[in-house]
Amino acid sequence: MFQFHLPSLLVANTSVITLCGLLLLFSWLRGREQRLLLWAGIMLLLASAGLILNALRGMGMDWLPVIVGNMLLLLCGAMNWTAMRLFCGRSPRYAWVLAGALLWLAACFWPPFYQSLQARVLFNTLLMGAYLLAALLELWRARSQLDVSPLPAMILIAFHLAFMTMRALLSFDESAGALQNSPLFGYLLIESLLYAVGMAFVMLSMVKERAEQGLRLAAYRDVLTGVANRRGFLESGERLLALCRRQQRPLALLLFDLDHFKRINDGFGHAAGDQVLVDFAKLVQGQMRKEDIFARIGGEEFACLIVADRQQAMTMAERIRADFFTLESNGLTRSVSIGVSFCADAECDLQWLLAQADQALYSAKHQGRNRVRCLPTGDWLLVAEPAR
Ligand code: GH3
Ligand code: MG
Ligand code: MG
Repeated sequence: MFQFHLPSLLVANTSVITLCGLLLLFSWLRGREQRLLLWAGIMLLLASAGLILNALRGMGMDWLPVIVGNMLLLLCGAMNWTAMRLFCGRSPRYAWVLAGALLWLAACFWPPFYQSLQARVLFNTLLMGAYLLAALLELWRARSQLDVSPLPAMILIAFHLAFMTMRALLSFDESAGALQNSPLFGYLLIESLLYAVGMAFVMLSMVKERAEQGLRLAAYRDVLTGVANRRGFLESGERLLALCRRQQRPLALLLFDLDHFKRINDGFGHAAGDQVLVDFAKLVQGQMRKEDIFARIGGEEFACLIVADRQQAMTMAERIRADFFTLESNGLTRSVSIGVSFCADAECDLQWLLAQADQALYSAKHQGRNRVRCLPTGDWLLVAEPAR
């Protein structure tokens, strides 16, 4: 039968795990905001120490591998769970992190337990299994809110849990003190290596993916109102346009420009102006359907791309205009001019739609503001000039 050279395997194993731990710590040091990397890095260094101690079994001073070695490995299980909690946006639970190792220490002071290999294997597997299950549960519970798929981490943890259980069952017939010489210990080393390297890789890629998503989101969002910015609008707009073209559905663009916005800033302050922008964005969002795209494309300019025919678009624009004009506003007079353009079967491009809507908007401003105008058509929808 195939034989492992256990000392070489142990050296290779602990060197790679230590290296992975150091790399995680190095990654954490560069940003410091991803605490999960700190926990995972320390976890791998402790795992390496725990495995070395475990290999000393049967060489005298058995308390060192049995008590300290297993305490370290249980601490690793707890840190693995904590890293997953941090990833899900939850805080560490320090008492539970220490609980496994302390329970193990307490149990080892009870001679019948300490002298029974089977009792030790069973209890160790129960404690470690509980931490692994807790880590799985964290990811499972948070899976719908997570911005990054937890699936690779969940598969790795589930595999590790299955291996641990199998190992516990198989090691019942091992005699005390002989574990470090058995092929089972070789498999244990190989599996722990795969798990440690796999987890290090998965955690790094989860953190990296999340950071990239954060940057992407920031690049496409307007900080003040939380809606898309011009870049986000153009990208999602092109996608919606292509979809409507394929499905031969009508598309309309509403271009908004708040009226006399400078007066609001000058008369009530920049903060009041900001609040008006936020209120307007909220109002339009309340009228949109899921597939519509809404963005702040300039200072006090917004755009909305909707899957609608001309009549529906005009109705929506008019509703927004009227609602904004009558919105509760601490004595502030606020109004918006809206230019609408449309394309019956989406056989046009976004720039054309924007140019048409811009022309319609210019016309709305020119004719007195607080009104909706549409292009291409001479069929204007007139709105009465508000009393000021
Ligand atoms: P009009 O009716 O012709 O559109 O007049 P207006 O005053 O709204 O138009 P104009 O384009 O001259 O002024 C827009 C103002 O919007 C100027 C700028 O100071 C203000 N603005 C741009 N971005 C922001 C912002 O983020 N917050 C606030 N409070 N004001 C902004
Ligand atoms: Mg403007
Ligand atoms: Mg304006």
